[in-house]
Amino acid sequence: MMAEAGAAGRVEDGFAELERVLLDDPGGRGLADLVVPGDLAGASEILLRAESPAIVTGFFIPDAGAAETDGPPGALALGRAISVLGRQTTFVTDEACRPVLEKAGLVPLVVSDGSHEGWDADCLVAVERPGRAADGRYYSMRGRDLTPWTAPLDGWFLSPGPRWRTIAVGDGGNEIGMGKAPGGAERRAPTGQRIASIVPADRLVVAGVSNWGAWGLLAGVSLLAGRRLLPTEDEARADHEAVFAAGAVDGKSGRAAPTVDGLDWSVHAAVRARLDAVVRGVLGPAPT
Ligand code: MG
Ligand code: MG
Repeated sequence: MMAEAGAAGRVEDGFAELERVLLDDPGGRGLADLVVPGDLAGASEILLRAESPAIVTGFFIPDAGAAETDGPPGALALGRAISVLGRQTTFVTDEACRPVLEKAGLVPLVVSDGSHEGWDADCLVAVERPGRAADGRYYSMRGRDLTPWTAPLDGWFLSPGPRWRTIAVGDGGNEIGMGKAPGGAERRAPTGQRIASIVPADRLVVAGVSNWGAWGLLAGVSLLAGRRLLPTEDEARADHEAVFAAGAVDGKSGRAAPTVDGLDWSVHAAVRARLDAVVRGVLGPAPT
């Protein structure tokens, strides 16, 4: 009895620590205000139980003509862990983001009209995917209208199928899921109110960079499952390199650089290591 209570307490403390790591806020976006308490644990539970998960990702940068580097590396890590759990992942994107995802090895289902004919899922996970604003249009963080390049895949989160559970990972306010955040992006002048996504999710994971949120979700599933599902440093680095090599661009600079949200690999590696340390603290050291 005591041992069980101790284990549950360790998992709970682990989730609190994971949230602290994810809230490293390199863009100074005031992320702490956007967190829904308990949602990282709730999202981890949904993903652990999902039989047929689908991951929706791809954020198009029109000036560069390619998807950004945030999102697909997280999706690669999620897909790998889901296959370790014995399930298959469907990756979904739209035409504009298709080339990067395909070349990065995600083999996406390409949907341009928001329909879900011919495929089904019991759990949808959005990772850095535009969510519509109150005016029904999609915006970049700088307020650029992305609607001409963005398929309405967020409609699935606005009115999910009866057996779909939804999870969303975001880092700015304009992504799918941020409609659930308390306060949304309203406080971020001058474009905040206009770009704020109204699209909710059952569970919202907020992180300084969306790829970190995907890792955080895997760290959370690791705590619940008692299995190590985070990518190793080598795997995570290979995921990033695959996405850069596929022609993705940094979402902040719009440049074809090996960075995500303006941050070098070393910053991402350090966050992954901190998440890993939390998992090891709860599960014990990795077997050698
Ligand atoms: Mg973002
Ligand atoms: Mg980002």
